[in-house]
Parts: sequence; structure tokens; C-alpha cells
Amino acid sequence: MASIKTLLITGVSSGFGRALAQEALAAGHRVVGTVRSHASKNEFEALAPDRAFGRVLDVTDFDAIDGVVAEVEASVGPVDVLVNNAGYGHEGVMEESPLAEMRRQFDVNVFGAVAVIKAVLPYMRKRRRGHILNITSMGGYITMPGIAYYCGSKFALEGISEALGKEVQPFGIAVTAVAPGSFRTDWAGRSMARTPRSIPDYDALFDPVRKAREEKSGKQTGDPVKAARAMLAAISAERPAAHLLLGSDALGLVRAKLSALSGEIAAWESVTLSTDA
Ligand code: NAP
Repeated sequence: MASIKTLLITGVSSGFGRALAQEALAAGHRVVGTVRSHASKNEFEALAPDRAFGRVLDVTDFDAIDGVVAEVEASVGPVDVLVNNAGYGHEGVMEESPLAEMRRQFDVNVFGAVAVIKAVLPYMRKRRRGHILNITSMGGYITMPGIAYYCGSKFALEGISEALGKEVQPFGIAVTAVAPGSFRTDWAGRSMARTPRSIPDYDALFDPVRKAREEKSGKQTGDPVKAARAMLAAISAERPAAHLLLGSDALGLVRAKLSALSGEIAAWESVTLSTDA
């Protein structure tokens, strides 16, 4: 078996976080998992009383993050792998969706992840080893109408991950942005923030999108347990990937996006080249 590691995973109450925690525990690793209630903490720790350590933390409680990480390092031990998984999807037509919804989306999906990374990095940098996985999304490469804030947040986390990876690689720290397609988690169900409709002009475009997502919730192609196993493979890799797509939908859609982007770059190449001095 690969070496035993300590993983810090944000958001282990359901979905990918829970699946990864369970698979990691089954593989013999130790898991510190963040949750948002004491009931969830107790439930999580019951999975493996000697190796599952729950901590109550909302990732937007920015003032609390450094203290929680310091306490984990002191009482549980060195964090070998950080998995920034906590996040949610906002769905709504951009013009209809208040800026406050965008701020909340970025607070959780971007600022929360960055704040946890900033708390963990000094320890990893001192040890000259570590691996950070950021759960982004295929929505960090491709876009659809009705999830502009979500895609914006995941594009942001993809970019931050990639740049960070270049900064910390000299210290032996790897950064992997994991971009899943559609998986059977609570993402499109209880966790999704849906802005109510208000502008009829968008009915024809957006109503079918919302309906389809509601109907598909719980029936998505992706299996979170298999995603967890893929993440464990990424964690044990000698040369971890900077970007990892999960699922056939992510693969097809991202490839199509890259090809369309490449075609558009070629079509406009002469204009692009016309601006040099
Ligand atoms: P999920 O089942 O809804 O799990 C989300 C987890 O994040 C829960 O544990 C939730 O805790 C936690 N969380 C949400 N907001 C938080 C906050 N402010 N502070 C701390 N924890 C918070 O959905 P999931 O699909 O596993 O989501 C995990 C990640 O995967 C997210 O970043 C999501 O965007 C991404 N993703 C999902 C899919 C998909 O199809 N499922 C695809 C691509 C990417 P509570 O139980 O307390 O709410």
C-alpha cells in the first residue's frame, strides 16, 4: 500500500468530500474533515474513530481558518494533502441575479479555498512537501447560460491553482485542479442556490435549462466514489497533474471547447498579430 497520509478535506458532509474521505479512510489514511455542524462532526468521526477527525468550519469564516489549521497541525499532525472541496453552485440568469449572490459564490468557492490554502502553505513550505487539490469543475473550462457566477468562480479557481502550482513547485508542493463533470452529489439538489426568475425575455433560453438540471439531479452519469478513487490515484502519483478532468461529459465538452477556441484564435490570427509595435 502507498504511504499513509493525513488529508485535510473541506466539506465532508456529503458528495465528493464524503466519498473521498471514506475511500481515503478505507485505504488506511487519516482524514481531517471540515463540516458545518456538531451533529455532522460526530457523524463524520464515527466513520473511523481513530482516524477521522472532524472540525467545524465554514470556509467563509475567514478569521477562524488559520486557528483551525494550526490546531490540526498541532493536535492531529502534519497535513500532507489539502483538498479544497467545499463549494456550491449558484444558478440564475446573470441579469436577474443580485451581486450579493455573486459575492457569496466567490466567497465560498474562491476566497474560502484560497484562505485555507494560505493557512496550510506555511507548514507545507517549511516541510518542503505537500499536495493541494482544488475541486474546480468542467464549468472552470466551459460555460452554459444560467451559471455565470458559478463558472466565473471555477474559472478563477482554475487560474489560481495553475499559477500557485508554478509558485510552490520549487518547494516540492504540487497543486492539482480537479475538474469534474456532472456527478451524483447534492450539488444540484439541496446545495444549489437558485435565483428566482424575474425577466420574461430569458424564459425561452433559461427555463428549459433549469428544468433539465432539476430533473437530472441524482441521476447524473458520474459516480462520486469513482471520482474519489481517481483523486486518490492523483494524490499517490509521482508527478501529479496540474489539471485533471473527471467524467466522459467533462472530457467531451472541454475538448470541444478547446477545439472551438483554437479555431477562433486561428480565424482572428491576422487581427491578433496586427497590434504589435
Ligand atoms: P455537495 O454534496 O452539495 O457537497 C458540498 C459540500 O461543501 C458539503 O459538505 C457542504 O457542507 C460544503 N460546503 C458548502 N458551502 C460551504 C461553506 N461555506 N463552508 C464549508 N463547507 C461548505 O456537492 P458536491 O458536488 O460534492 O460539491 C463539492 C465540490 O464539487 C464543490 O466545489 C462543487 O462545486 C464541485 N463540483 C461538483 C460537481 C457535481 O456535479 N456534483 C461537478 C463539478 C464540481 P454542508 O453539508 O454544510 O452544506
